[in-house]
Amino acid sequence: MAVNLKGLTIRTAHEALKKGDFSAAELSSAYLDRIEKKNSSINAYIEIYDDVLKQAEEADKRFRDNTATTLTGIPLGLKDNILLKGKRASAASKILENYSASYDATVTEKLKKEGVVFLGRTNMDEFAMGSSTENSAYGVTRNPYDEARVAGGSSGGSAAAVAMDGALAALGTDTGGSVRQPASFCGVVGLKPTYGRVSRYGIIAMGSSLDQVGAIGKTVDDVSILYNAIRGQDSFDSTTIAENTYPVKTKGRARIGVPRDFLKNGGIDKAVGENFETVEKSLIERGYEIEDIDLPNISYSLAAYYIIMPAEVSSNLARYDGMKFGFLKEGETLKDDYFLSRGFGFGRESRRRIILGTYVLSSGYYDAYYNKAGEMRRILGSDFARAFDGIDVILTPTTPSPAFKIGEKTADPVAMYLEDIFTVTANLVGIPALTVPSGSALGNNLPEGGLPLGVQFMGRHGEEETLFNVAGDFLKEKHYG
Ligand code: GLN
Repeated sequence: MAVNLKGLTIRTAHEALKKGDFSAAELSSAYLDRIEKKNSSINAYIEIYDDVLKQAEEADKRFRDNTATTLTGIPLGLKDNILLKGKRASAASKILENYSASYDATVTEKLKKEGVVFLGRTNMDEFAMGSSTENSAYGVTRNPYDEARVAGGSSGGSAAAVAMDGALAALGTDTGGSVRQPASFCGVVGLKPTYGRVSRYGIIAMGSSLDQVGAIGKTVDDVSILYNAIRGQDSFDSTTIAENTYPVKTKGRARIGVPRDFLKNGGIDKAVGENFETVEKSLIERGYEIEDIDLPNISYSLAAYYIIMPAEVSSNLARYDGMKFGFLKEGETLKDDYFLSRGFGFGRESRRRIILGTYVLSSGYYDAYYNKAGEMRRILGSDFARAFDGIDVILTPTTPSPAFKIGEKTADPVAMYLEDIFTVTANLVGIPALTVPSGSALGNNLPEGGLPLGVQFMGRHGEEETLFNVAGDFLKEKHYG
């Protein structure tokens, strides 16, 4: 039968698979057809795997054997920095163009056990550095709502794949907003879990103290299904945390706080500001109390992030030297080999951040920059802990503007970095954050139907469930009980 992908969710697809309305093979074929139609213009996928239908047939077998779970047969996109054994994973970089994974990431191993169908690897900014997927060695990903605009980044391919009905859901990674910002630009739901909740084993590292794997889907329910499948302590990643590390403190209906002063100075678009007011109103109508909160140092977050992150990037990317992995360009001497391989293998933004990171870690500047940023990170942690004494959830817009035009910010890195103003703090502090669609920006220069907007809910460490409940309520999704 013809499968209608538009209204499908993981939950409804699972019911249909169980009832036999369609098979996993039919479902995957429908996605492959859709990708065939859309991917040449959107460029959400770098590669479609050659064994999709084989995976789907395995899933169908599990339905026949009664060993299927909610995720069995569900077609997913996988960001190109997550290892899947035997498949290429390049982090959208030329330097890893021909690298093929020799093992599974913990998250892919977990999903394999559920019997998901991996459709292919999705486009991204090189090594997850960027907010627009313009830094990919494989070309930009276009926004399905307006192809002249970016899909966001760095997980732009994953978000666009879900938005164009090229996957039911997808995995991304989030170091400073890379799941949430593209999800917001593409009108879908995205979660960055608590630091340590999901294993980073088998993820190509960007900033190790900030990186988390996150889920992108059409509904809060779908994202929570995917999150619950990938989470858990892992002996291969010593930064993962035990299940009961953070007891849930929210009692009853969550109290919501808004860092009002910060929003006023955050340089947000008129459409974003108006939309945010509507969101607040609708939450109040649903019985939520909203109060203004003070996060006195939050305006330093972006600066601290753009010191700590490149420092970690410069260290993590040192291993790509032309000798151990991937791309090698030979010169006259060994030193030339290093220079040429790294010079030609990395794109502009990666080189910029390696240089910045090396600078802030160099003797003489370490104290002035890196240590100060680390100190600010600790202060932000205490500010948030204090705020969470009085409220349970912090609400902000996800981004200061809707999706911008391709090329609009490429010449101005600082303008690009300002995109991350609302998202980076959750990574610095390690708390979970969820973005959900909150409406559209409308206007003369915008496509008919407008451009998607999103709001972000941040919670205490370990309180993903609180975020799912509040956001689910906001979207009037009934997903529990
Ligand atoms: N846009 C941010 C950056 O460029 C975040 C990237 C990410 O989360 N991977 O660093």
